[in-house]
Amino acid sequence: MQKRTERRTKGTLFVISAPSGAGKTTLCKRLLNKKSDLRLSVSYTTRSPRKGETNNVDYTFITKSRFMKMLEKGAFAEWASVHGNLYGTSVRRMEELNRDGYDILLDIDIHGAMQMKKSCENAVFIFILPPSIDTLQDRLVKRGTDSKEVIAQRLDNAKAEIAYYKDYDYIIVNDSIDRAYRELESIITSSRLLMSKVNPKWIKKVYNV
Ligand code: 5GP
Repeated sequence: MQKRTERRTKGTLFVISAPSGAGKTTLCKRLLNKKSDLRLSVSYTTRSPRKGETNNVDYTFITKSRFMKMLEKGAFAEWASVHGNLYGTSVRRMEELNRDGYDILLDIDIHGAMQMKKSCENAVFIFILPPSIDTLQDRLVKRGTDSKEVIAQRLDNAKAEIAYYKDYDYIIVNDSIDRAYRELESIITSSRLLMSKVNPKWIKKVYNV
């Protein structure tokens, strides 16, 4: 498995958010499959597992009381309540991934992302948008799982979330999953090539400057 090489000393933290239905999960999964040196920091959540989800892979599923205890102990780098459930990013898991030489991906909501922005200035913030509100509505209607009222609520939430776009570094419009993926990959690649990530000791060794 290829991890951070001698050329780079510092890892990169990528924070990805999107209103629900924008295709973020698909894009993140594809990215994690292709980039062996990028790892998802698995979040803790109080929501119940969905069909097909695995504990400690998709999330670590815990009770509300355990979540509150962890919160009190300062175990979370950020946390938020999303659709009535609690979600949090573990400080320890991020530290371990960083120590092991991985770049880190956080798939978190806008409120969590804003907390990370305060504590982690050098992180790269990426926002994924649906092509339009109409497409989002079409997707929700076609899915057929929500009532008219719930769909209206989800669309209102999506609009409120989209209003945060200015707080992100990169905006990807997911009108074609392949193009959106290529754009996402190019952000990852270019962020890794930043001069600030280069190991000066390696430059000295190879170029003697
Ligand atoms: P879902 O329950 O559908 O997997 O996720 C709901 C929302 O919670 C998504 O927007 C997801 O990005 C967000 N989320 C997942 N883990 C975390 C976390 O650790 N912190 C925060 N703030 N949001 C999270």
